[in-house]
Amino acid sequence: MSAAPPNEPPRAPDIPQSHEDGPPSQEPSIWDVPDRFRAPDDWDAHAKAGEAQEGTDTVVRRPPARTTSAPSAGRRRLLIIAGAAVLLLAAVTATAVALTRGDGETAVGGAGGATQATAVAAEPSRAVVPILMYHLIADAPADAAYPELYVRPATFARQMRYLHDEGYQAVSLGRVLDAWAGEATLPDRPVVISFDDGYPSHYLVAAPIMQEYGWKGLLNADWKVLDESPRLLAQVRLLAVAGWEIGSHSLTHPDLTTLDAAQLKDEVAGSREVLREQLGVPVDFFCYPAGRYDDEVVAAVEAAGYRGATTTDRGFASRDEPFRLKRVRVSDGLSPAQLVAALRSDSP
Ligand SMILES: [Zn+2]
Repeated sequence: MSAAPPNEPPRAPDIPQSHEDGPPSQEPSIWDVPDRFRAPDDWDAHAKAGEAQEGTDTVVRRPPARTTSAPSAGRRRLLIIAGAAVLLLAAVTATAVALTRGDGETAVGGAGGATQATAVAAEPSRAVVPILMYHLIADAPADAAYPELYVRPATFARQMRYLHDEGYQAVSLGRVLDAWAGEATLPDRPVVISFDDGYPSHYLVAAPIMQEYGWKGLLNADWKVLDESPRLLAQVRLLAVAGWEIGSHSLTHPDLTTLDAAQLKDEVAGSREVLREQLGVPVDFFCYPAGRYDDEVVAAVEAAGYRGATTTDRGFASRDEPFRLKRVRVSDGLSPAQLVAALRSDSP
């Protein structure tokens, strides 16, 4: 297997650094989340102005209400926000109860999450599944080195809403592999929503938007970034508690094909170990940094006990290649209709 093209640029330079972060001012709590459900008075103007930048955003921008310019739009929006906060609280409580019971599988697509992915005797599914690939959910600064890594919050919200309205349901990658093994079922239109590297906007922006539909994501985190930022680590812990899947994106995001065997094992097995220990969740999936892998790297990932691995190779994920799972890169310029059209095509 030839290596994937190096089509994932290096980490965007505008991530918050640890010295800017400082320790959290207080112990973070999952109950803080509803306080972040504050929408700006004028969503669109706010989005255009790009006031809230990655890393400094304390305001979670909500998708615009479907109604426009009705006199009661502001009040209605407040009600929607309050309702969403209540739903999130309910979801968090349910997740906590499930975790307490040792019932780890909580990532279930669909609003309401009524269908639990418990062990189901089923024919092994042969479905190919789209795995969306995102990086930052933020406005790209004018001087961004890699503007293609940014999807604006309003764009992301529209994409999620459109997927939902078109019948898609976000599922965990674990559920996809379970279905391929005949141990779970999939909805008619499953989609896995993955985020690479670990940015504040995953927790602050993407998670609340996805929570409107009861959806969880797959966060591929590289340990060094979390280790350097107590705030980011706290955010990723909250996502894990809320039922997001955490995947390993290595320790230091190197080109794994250039390492010797000991370094490779460190990056692949070592990152799984530290993430499991620090986050208290299974870390069942690996994501090749910069999309770089070869047979030796794949063998190291299998040896470390992962169930599968995601690449930056374009396409749908197939049960025939669990350690070379293809993904669909989503850009800001992709309209929701174009995204769905791509997911319905033979080759996205
Ligand atoms: Zn990466």
